[in-house]
Amino acid sequence: MRRFFQLSILTLVTIFLLAACSNDNDKTSGKNGKLKVVTSFTILADMAHEIGGDKVEVHNLVPTGTDPHEYEPLPKDIKAATDADVLFYNGLNLEGGKSGWFHKMIETAGQPENKVFKVTERVKPMYLQTEGEEGEINPHAFIDPAVGVKMAEDMTKAFVKVDPDRKDHYEKRGKEYVERLKAIDKEYTEKINEIPEKNRILVTSERAFQYMTSHYGLEEAFIWEIDTEENGSPKQIKDLVNFIKKHDVPVLFIESNVDRRPMETVSKETGVPFSKKPIYSDEIGQAGDEVDTYVKYLNYNIKLIHDELSEK
Ligand SMILES: [Zn+2]
Repeated sequence: MRRFFQLSILTLVTIFLLAACSNDNDKTSGKNGKLKVVTSFTILADMAHEIGGDKVEVHNLVPTGTDPHEYEPLPKDIKAATDADVLFYNGLNLEGGKSGWFHKMIETAGQPENKVFKVTERVKPMYLQTEGEEGEINPHAFIDPAVGVKMAEDMTKAFVKVDPDRKDHYEKRGKEYVERLKAIDKEYTEKINEIPEKNRILVTSERAFQYMTSHYGLEEAFIWEIDTEENGSPKQIKDLVNFIKKHDVPVLFIESNVDRRPMETVSKETGVPFSKKPIYSDEIGQAGDEVDTYVKYLNYNIKLIHDELSEK
């Protein structure tokens, strides 16, 4: 009887301790607990790591090699979204807009609006001109490092808002990171100004570089406007071939994540060669790849563009 009583006490104490522990984990930012962050795609996941450092635990949704425009969240994604302290998404229709997969997932997870942050709140949208349709917003603002600065500043503010106890930590790291991005923005201006004026044309498959090219003074040309439409129809290819015949295009760029065949046709019909390496648009590579952070991605792209367009 006594033994049974002792055991029961022990059991009760254990249950109490377990409850106390799990309760502590549930808190937004327990003293030792990490802030639980969910990001919609690879570039935001990297930014969250840069700004949050070891105080955050990041669950990223759309992995490298997967289209962020149309994604189907997995059960583990919905679990992470339900448990998250803060969630970040690009907006500008990258995740399919208000009726797209990201907002549907937020609804399923039952997360309140004040935990969900769009990082492009201060970015002026640019529009695609799909024939016969209303202009759709071009989501690829992050290819422009000056936009990256705004995104990082807003992410820093969001971290402070949801986890004010660690204000100094986020602000210090956020500031250092923004300084790095500002230096890259300056480098883009310098490097593009070094390219002979007649060569300042960026030809890619998808029209992903609109924000960047218009900011730094490059002309853009492309086969299709956005990955969700038909990619590489005969008419799209013919339009680009005609453009190239009228302009002195030195090289064709090919994105890391697209079907190469349409651009191969363009190259065959015009005799304009491919760049030696692919250019990056919708994503960064996996950990350990050459381009596995946003900073490396920006640096890689400008070096490639500068080298390829200066040589010819
Ligand atoms: Zn895209």
